[in-house]
Amino acid sequence: MDIVELTVTALAERVRGRQLSAVEVAQAYLARIAELEPTLHAFITVDAEGALAAARALDLRLARGEDVGPLAGVPIALKDIFVTQGLRTTCGSRILADWVPPYEGTPSARLRAAGAVVLGKANMDEFAMGSSNENSAFGVCRNPWDVDRVPGGSSGGSAAAVAGRLCLGALGTDTGGSIRQPAALCGVVGIKPTYGRVSRYGVIAFASSLDQVGPIARTTEDAAALLEVIAGHDPLDATSLPQPVGRYREACRRGVRGLRIGVPAEYFAAGLDPEIETAVRAAIDQLAAQGAEVVDISLPHTKYAIATYYLLCTAEASSNLARYDGVRFGLRAARPRDLRDLYSRTRHDGFGPEVRRRIILGTFALSAGYYDAYYAKGQRVRTLIRQDFSRAFERCDVIVVSTLPIMVFKLGERLDDSLQMYLADIYTISCNLAGLPGLSLPCGFSRQGLPIGLQVLGPPLGEEQVFAVAGSYEQAHDWHRRVPEVRR
Ligand code: GLN
Repeated sequence: MDIVELTVTALAERVRGRQLSAVEVAQAYLARIAELEPTLHAFITVDAEGALAAARALDLRLARGEDVGPLAGVPIALKDIFVTQGLRTTCGSRILADWVPPYEGTPSARLRAAGAVVLGKANMDEFAMGSSNENSAFGVCRNPWDVDRVPGGSSGGSAAAVAGRLCLGALGTDTGGSIRQPAALCGVVGIKPTYGRVSRYGVIAFASSLDQVGPIARTTEDAAALLEVIAGHDPLDATSLPQPVGRYREACRRGVRGLRIGVPAEYFAAGLDPEIETAVRAAIDQLAAQGAEVVDISLPHTKYAIATYYLLCTAEASSNLARYDGVRFGLRAARPRDLRDLYSRTRHDGFGPEVRRRIILGTFALSAGYYDAYYAKGQRVRTLIRQDFSRAFERCDVIVVSTLPIMVFKLGERLDDSLQMYLADIYTISCNLAGLPGLSLPCGFSRQGLPIGLQVLGPPLGEEQVFAVAGSYEQAHDWHRRVPEVRR
């Protein structure tokens, strides 16, 4: 038995049944990390000592007959945006390069309480701004399927670590696609739940009205198992939803008979790579063969999504990132002349170019006299985009589209052209603007052997039907069983 090939449920069962110790599991994954991390650089911090200590503690409790939880021994990577007590949390930025938080956020606390073992903090675009992981202050992360290509972003390290078998599951965050996009590009599964489904307590804020936490895993059922643990109400997050958590794992086996699948014309327009279109249309045909009904729908305001998203997210980011002032925590410029000099030099030295660009754009959009023309107008367009989806979901239960319009690109290929980088987010951002759940899963490989992602969107709190569709599709394929051969 190859430990790193066991699924979440299979591994946890063996650890709970003491056929496998949590320490053996942690060691097997740490060995993979030792072998592949120098090539992939999926982590900003590997916490081997902490992981082994946690695994030993679990084994001791199991030996005493205690129930350690449904994720017993499951080795996890956390995007470095999750605040971890006593473990450095950088958010991919120089400004937090040495920050060791005094508290633990809710999503990781829930994973640990369920028996998961944290292996380390995954690489990411600085403050989750980016689509390629190239904006990390800690070096680029590589795609396990082709090390000359990006893993996607901003949760690129999380997706690369899962795909490369450097961990069994990971947590990411998704403000405009940062879970689904890297999952698609690394050939794994990622879900952004409904806004408010998972607590954001202890998750470093980028754009608070869009940010949402979710799992990245190798199979839909693994993702469902992780989501069942992290979802649910949290009094520490005012936007957290009170509704009970769904039965996501069970939903994966429910099938699609009778479900109506909406196919929006706007997501099959010019710019969609023909190989991707073929794979996505074949997936829709397959779901129809499995008993789903396919209906044509329209999301007419899709063309405004990119402009709306980049306006709102930069505005919110400029406000959220004001707290990094060199006074309270994080980097502090040496020998400031006065307070203004302290602020400006700390922020200039601490933030990378993409983060600075967004703070400047967002501050402009929120400035006196411009607020109504930009931010307020953006909010109104956001309402129109949300209404597109409410109307569409009167006619269908889920929407099935591609996760990206383009194939995974080479490192450096889009770095000099922010607009090109932003445009590739076209299929993922509306879901955040509307607060919906969206999942990406592998639906094939290009002729060059590059992974292609299928995206399933649901109405608010429709995670179960999203899992039903993804699980049904996955069951007929072996895409998720393919293991990348990392070429060093
Ligand atoms: N690529 C998008 C951006 O750069 C989305 C990022 C995210 O979801 N965190 O803003």
